[in-house]
Amino acid sequence: MRTLVIGGGGFIGSHLCGRLLGKGHTVLCLDNFLTSPESNVADLAGRPAFQLIRHDISRPFQPEGPLDAVLHLASPASPPDYLRLPIETLQAGSLGTFNALEIAKAKGARFLLASTSEVYGDPQVHPQPESYWGHVNCVGPRSVYDEAKRFAEALTMAYHRAYRLDTRIARIFNTYGPRIRRNDGRAIPNFITQALGGRPITIYGDGSQTRSFCYVTDLAEGIERLMGGDLHDPVNLGNPNEISLIELARLILRLTQSRSSILFKPLPVDDPKLRCPEIRPARERLKWEPAVPLEEGLLKTID
Ligand code: NAD
Ligand code: UDP
Repeated sequence: MRTLVIGGGGFIGSHLCGRLLGKGHTVLCLDNFLTSPESNVADLAGRPAFQLIRHDISRPFQPEGPLDAVLHLASPASPPDYLRLPIETLQAGSLGTFNALEIAKAKGARFLLASTSEVYGDPQVHPQPESYWGHVNCVGPRSVYDEAKRFAEALTMAYHRAYRLDTRIARIFNTYGPRIRRNDGRAIPNFITQALGGRPITIYGDGSQTRSFCYVTDLAEGIERLMGGDLHDPVNLGNPNEISLIELARLILRLTQSRSSILFKPLPVDDPKLRCPEIRPARERLKWEPAVPLEEGLLKTID
């Protein structure tokens, strides 16, 4: 298989590139390193089956040679990243998805969109099944990410219906693990760096909001199964083990043996209060569910 991973230099993308190479794929990794360091793929760069293409997917691109699969993961993903890069985020989800779909169409390749649980916004249905249409503030600060991904899903389904393109949509829930940027601003890297540095753990709001954190190798396995299956409708990929942010902070303090204090700061605008995936389709149709418990995944990330 010859696979193009767009956003392959990022946290999740670099894990996928490594995994695909390990399974004998030839991997073309396209990235403009907007939100990731090139060192993420430094250990892959010398391999003959790996090719790095520095390009902004919001501009058209056609790689040479045949392709079997195109995975589109290019987008700022951490809230601080997409809030400081609002236009780039909207472009990656709209123009970027269009250009990525055009590559797949020209090559007759299978396509996967990395979508997000943020399409559910601040959900009024809990846990969130794929059938829930979501509760998104379409003009709030987070809309640059949420609406870009909602548009990307709509465009992917349109290519599937209009051109019979063989598409997949992964609705990815909060994912963590080694190579997540320590300063990318998300809760797990923030808490770990703060705890290890002896600085206060910043909790936004009162910490009662919940998330459900999936270890990156579990997610990569889910993406691989989704690509290998026949589901064209969006599929939730996440860990249904829900935890409040205050519990997460206490767990990380214990695992790092840190004496950091907890500092409460204002909750960001439109911050979802609850988030937990309903993963019945992934369980039943892909025979997938996360295997790595939170403590184990956090210890690997802390290392
Ligand atoms: P990341 O920021 O580490 O990776 C994104 C990658 O895309 C980076 O390497 C970045 O440089 C690249 N990129 C951004 N814009 C680009 C452009 N215009 N052209 C080329 N490359 C571009 O983030 P991540 O956590 O690895 O997320 C990867 C994908 O998964 C994203 O699409 C994100 O929306 C989605 N996702 C991630 C999570 C999560 O918890 N990590 C949750 C839901 C969805
Ligand atoms: N959060 C926090 N402290 C931090 C970073 C994040 O309390 O230093 C909160 C954030 O407000 C949200 C949750 O942790 O309620 C998860 O945030 P993250 O940025 O990891 O992902 P999100 O689910 O918001 O995309």
